[in-house]
Amino acid sequence: MNDQYGRKIDYMRVSITDRCNLRCFYCMPNRIQLVNHSDILPYEELLRICKVAIKLGIKKFKVTGGEPLVRKDCIKFIGKLKALPTVEQVTLTTNGTLLESYFDELCESGIDAINISIDTTDGELYNQITGSSKYDVSKIIDMIPILIERGIRVKINAVILAETLENALALASIAEQHPVDIRFIELMPIGEGEKIKNVSAKELLRIIQNRYPDLHKVKEKRGNGPAHYYGAKRLLGCLGVIDAVSNSFCSKCNRVRLTSSGQLKPCLCYDDSVDLRKLIREGVSDDMLLQVMEKSIYQKPRQHKFIEKNVSENKLMSQIGG
Ligand code: SAM
Ligand code: SF4
Repeated sequence: MNDQYGRKIDYMRVSITDRCNLRCFYCMPNRIQLVNHSDILPYEELLRICKVAIKLGIKKFKVTGGEPLVRKDCIKFIGKLKALPTVEQVTLTTNGTLLESYFDELCESGIDAINISIDTTDGELYNQITGSSKYDVSKIIDMIPILIERGIRVKINAVILAETLENALALASIAEQHPVDIRFIELMPIGEGEKIKNVSAKELLRIIQNRYPDLHKVKEKRGNGPAHYYGAKRLLGCLGVIDAVSNSFCSKCNRVRLTSSGQLKPCLCYDDSVDLRKLIREGVSDDMLLQVMEKSIYQKPRQHKFIEKNVSENKLMSQIGG
């Protein structure tokens, strides 16, 4: 469906949990109030909302969290979502730490692509950023060719942090070895991100251009999002930047979000949301659910106010589903 500004909304990010096995310092503080288990939507309720969303024109779903793979039966949910009629694409955003354990199941789920979040290839720095020394980032990177071999498209997402700039070229060089896109994302002033100084995508691009002098913009559309992609002779994949803060791409925004506790959020910047869980638990009909969701999507705000740091959303990214 189109929203009030004529934007076609066909993409929904569905968070299935606010829990995570990492504590990336810009996303999830150590002492965090978790949502009660009873307030997290069971998969049946999530699927019911997704089915209504499909009637409203949503064709692509991203399963996210928290860390989606910490929730039991995440992959069964992905399979069920993928099997719904008219769904074009189901993808997963994960920190990658649990991919190995679910590898076969995931390959059989019909998933279209996986985004793996790795901010650095430096093991020590990775552990510092993620607040955990349990995982070895090189093992996550080793999963990339294995997934590609099984026909799953892989992208790497890296938030641009002052701490990781020095390592940006090492991260970018993964795209020299494998046909994966590496996307560098400006930190948004949401939750813990609000306390951290943002590093611009321009600064990151300057570093990358030094190594790839023939870096050029790629025109073809890659993915559902607002990334600008760049290619170079030495690269098998592309390098992307998502300048979510310094360059508002709101006029092209195509997405809404569903939190794990059933809040439908039309824009990341604002705390406006509709409490679908409450409606469902009060016994709302599918028709009424559709009307409520349609109204919320239609009223999606024109643009965020990240530059002004005028953000009314006070939930953490892990609670919303980044
Ligand atoms: N745990 C999964 C993961 O890390 O991919 C999925 C959830 S996580 C919230 C999704 C993405 O949001 C990650 O790539 C993470 O780096 C990013 N993220 C978290 N806080 C952010 C912020 N303030 N600005 C931009 N991206 C952020
Ligand atoms: Fe967990 Fe992802 Fe947030 Fe890191 S970015 S704390 S992996 S939810």
